[in-house]
Amino acid sequence: MIDSHGTSGTVPTGGETCDGFREDLARFVDGELHGEDCRRFEQHLESCTECQREVGIFQVLKGELQAMGMKQPEMPGGSVWDDVNRKVARPTGWIFTIIGFIMYLSYAVYTFITSDGNLFEKLTIGLLVVGFVVLLATVAWERIVDYRTDPYKGVEK
Ligand SMILES: [Zn+2]
Repeated sequence: MIDSHGTSGTVPTGGETCDGFREDLARFVDGELHGEDCRRFEQHLESCTECQREVGIFQVLKGELQAMGMKQPEMPGGSVWDDVNRKVARPTGWIFTIIGFIMYLSYAVYTFITSDGNLFEKLTIGLLVVGFVVLLATVAWERIVDYRTDPYKGVEK
């Protein structure tokens, strides 16, 4: 009558998977997880190295964002990566594109004016270029207005 139980394994006590805590994790790092949700998540965190690791990564990222003088992420359920993309990568891309375009245009205009060629030819090409630039500018402007009025565009709610 000796019982021969094996060692009790490392089965998670809550029975909930990490996927159920993805949103909580982001909110926890932002300090926006309160009450029962917070307690539940902390309990899970104690027994889950995977989530501990992610909280660590999120906290480092968050610290870097703050060090850059940025606002804290405030998207419920959004990841820090979305935030980095939205606040840093995209505006930077726009700025570089616009600066590069203006520089290229200046160069093109300069070589165009100083080149040989009759006035009619220059006028025709000039009109084409101006028309194209105006079209491009209006499209770009629409994008900028869009981007301003709906900062959560492209982010799943
Ligand atoms: Zn976990």
